[in-house]
Amino acid sequence: MKDTLGREITYLRISLTDLCNLRCAYCMPPEGAKKLEHRDILSFEEIEEIARAAVSLGVRKIRLTGGEPLVRRGMVDLCRRLRDIPALDELALTTNGLLLPEMAADLKAAGVDRVNISLDTLDPDKYRRITRGGSLERALAGIQAAKDAGFAPLKLNCVLIGGFNDDEIADLAELTVEEPVEVRFIEFMPIGGTDGFGPEAYLPCEAVLERLPQLVPAGDGGVAERYRLPGAAGTVGLIRPLSHSFCGRCDRLRLTADGQLKPCLHSREELPVRGLHGEDLLRQLERAVRHKPACHGELSASSRSRSVRDMNQIGG
Ligand code: SAM
Ligand code: SF4
Repeated sequence: MKDTLGREITYLRISLTDLCNLRCAYCMPPEGAKKLEHRDILSFEEIEEIARAAVSLGVRKIRLTGGEPLVRRGMVDLCRRLRDIPALDELALTTNGLLLPEMAADLKAAGVDRVNISLDTLDPDKYRRITRGGSLERALAGIQAAKDAGFAPLKLNCVLIGGFNDDEIADLAELTVEEPVEVRFIEFMPIGGTDGFGPEAYLPCEAVLERLPQLVPAGDGGVAERYRLPGAAGTVGLIRPLSHSFCGRCDRLRLTADGQLKPCLHSREELPVRGLHGEDLLRQLERAVRHKPACHGELSASSRSRSVRDMNQIGG
């Protein structure tokens, strides 16, 4: 599927739920997500049907996200069903990792190819603060469980927040020295309930290059620019939606848990897919691709995302 600007759309991000076992301050409101009725979210049968239709149109990679994808009951079974789609090259997951000690081996056995785990700090108190109550120890156990299950190379997502974790840039990057992990610094995006953060929170990823001048370019990592510390086994990725927009290379479509296709993370536009089958479903997927905007506009610390959802309702 090509959009109107010639961008090939090969990547579908599917949110399995808005719910989460954490409450990250930059992602969702303190009271948590509003619980949708079970009938309001897509069933696994519906998700599989939409995924199969998308793959028939050229999607080659699917990522399950949320909310926290691992809290949706039965999701390992869904992974198995998605992995059975013949032309799908990659099934990936983005998770906070807390449930990986129990689930990593089953996910691997179900055919999940890659796992990205969110980790914003190495300090237990700061982790508790930013996640509003989470345990760093559990997150680290989740990372270990993913490694033990054979997920490699692991990507660790770190939202860079000025005044919160910019003093840990070197320590987080250090995680790549011994092991083949990619630590990816992501610029904090002004979306949903992030208005409690001041302008200092929006720290461009340039700060990572300033703090670590020894980083050397290590190739193209998709939306991430990849660097390496001298002699390191792993890499450092910079994801800069604000300071270096990658819209020109955008290859993705998003599906929300309640069945809306989002042509762009930061636009208001949503196209419903629930209840569509066969040709109607295919045409709606193609329509969503045609509606992809050229860019997400002037996203910056002072100009907020136009999306009406919090990040946990989209999936990042
Ligand atoms: N619960 C899973 C997790 O935390 O990895 C998956 C869903 S979460 C919404 C997906 C990604 O979006 C996470 O890596 C998270 O750090 C990132 N994210 C959430 N809010 C963000 C924001 N305001 N700016 C930048 N990244 C954000
Ligand atoms: Fe949950 Fe992920 Fe959002 Fe944190 S970033 S509240 S773990 S959905």
